[in-house]
Amino acid sequence: MAMMHANQLFTPGPIGSDPLTWTEKERPEAGPGQLLIEVVACGVCRSNLHMIEGDWVDGGVPAISPIVPGHEVTGRVAAVGDGVQGFAIGDPVGVQPLYWACGDCEFCASDREQLCHQRVITGEHVDGGYGEFMLSWADYTFHVPVALDLVDAAPLFCPGITSYGVIDKIDLGPGQVVAIFGLGGVGHMALQMAVATGAEVIAVGRTRAHLDVALELGAAKVVDSTDAAELAAIEDSADVVLTFAGSDEVTRQAMSTLKWGGTLVSAVPLNVEEFHFNKQQTIKGSILGNREQMNAVLAMAAEGRIRTVVERFPMQDATTALARLAAGDLRSRAVLFNPGAVE
Ligand SMILES: [Zn+2]
Ligand SMILES: [Zn+2]
Repeated sequence: MAMMHANQLFTPGPIGSDPLTWTEKERPEAGPGQLLIEVVACGVCRSNLHMIEGDWVDGGVPAISPIVPGHEVTGRVAAVGDGVQGFAIGDPVGVQPLYWACGDCEFCASDREQLCHQRVITGEHVDGGYGEFMLSWADYTFHVPVALDLVDAAPLFCPGITSYGVIDKIDLGPGQVVAIFGLGGVGHMALQMAVATGAEVIAVGRTRAHLDVALELGAAKVVDSTDAAELAAIEDSADVVLTFAGSDEVTRQAMSTLKWGGTLVSAVPLNVEEFHFNKQQTIKGSILGNREQMNAVLAMAAEGRIRTVVERFPMQDATTALARLAAGDLRSRAVLFNPGAVE
């Protein structure tokens, strides 16, 4: 029986209590329609931290135990299941949080498969990318352009598609002002996509390192959200506001920055305490994107129009990366890599 190593979660708990264990487990085999992927890299998402620490146990996540977390995965095809076309052993590929959807419901039939009520989420319902190998469904696996480094490309599969989904829901362009709240893994990608539309981008965050990255990536202005005067200066100034930080304080700041008649798009949970109908504002939610949008993200990256900013950690050091994320001590996205699989 072939074996592999993976970070497995047996019992969720605070990251300080070491809930992940690097253990040997059986290497899965690709069934019909599936691929076995030798994982090169997997991004470390805040939602991984929520699941690992047990925040979602009441909601039934993780759905299996033990589970291998991780949902922004790149690697190479190691085995091809029966009936799969378009993939060959060695192909560079990636998997996003949407592991599978039914293909039949109203959402799947209207290119909104990320809303499928039967959707399966990578690393939450099935084993994900925090290990040496993982299974995927060929229909939900993407070719990674050869121009892209597989470690750098991993965050395209969650922050990248999440950002694209947000930007695609609004009509941004020259002459408009967009304020982005939350400049971590997702925010730094959305910022580049917003800049690419020609809009003027204000980046708002509370970490100096994040604000510096935002300037490097083309923000017209950065605002330190711990500075009340700086925040007051952008009140009622943005046609569009994007939020990627899920605290009530950020939501309040975001709403006060939004112009009358403006649109706020959120990719995080939101509690809006005061909503003034007479300001005629719009609030939209956004989660991930469809497969066509995922391919568009990969094309943008291959053309050099967007790039990820990553900090690399060996796969075995997942706990270190998660602890750094929990402590707010990352310049951008942490990415785990398998030293033996990186070229
Ligand atoms: Zn994610
Ligand atoms: Zn469906």
